[in-house]
Amino acid sequence: KLENATLKAELGRATWKFMHTMVARFPEEPSQEERKTLETFIYLFSRLYPCGDCARHFRGLLSKYPPQTSSRNAAAGWLCFVHNQVNERLKKPIFDCNNIGDFYDCGCGDEDKKKGD
Ligand code: FAD
Repeated sequence: KLENATLKAELGRATWKFMHTMVARFPEEPSQEERKTLETFIYLFSRLYPCGDCARHFRGLLSKYPPQTSSRNAAAGWLCFVHNQVNERLKKPIFDCNNIGDFYDCGCGDEDKKKGD
């Protein structure tokens, strides 16, 4: 089947939004288990992302720049950096990772609630 660049870009935008929003909610001081969960998620994601060429390229980035999971800041900064690596390759504008703070708001309204509430 022919490549459809519009659909591929739409999937990319939705995926990046989800990923950046997910790490923006990652614990500031994660437990070992939370760190492992994020790391495992990222590697499984890189096996399952439906655009095969994108996934292959992303796996290359992972081997060069392993996921950083020591804190929310580390995880958000790492994801911003690897997204910029993709941007560079696709000749897209580079995002200022210092501005990532409030950019990804999930709108969930439960930021301060404890797990299980
Ligand atoms: P996107 O790159 O989708 O970004 C969406 C929005 O996020 C931007 O408008 C901006 O507001 C914000 N943003 C931009 N950069 C950052 C950053 N560094 N950190 C935080 N926020 C940021 N497409 C291909 O054609 N070839 C590929 O090999 C390819 N690989 C991909 C690999 C992965 C893992 C993913 C998720 C997507 C990949 N894509 C690939 C899709 C591509 O990255 C874009 O999503 C798509 O081209 C749409 O681009 P866009 O200009 O709308 O912005």
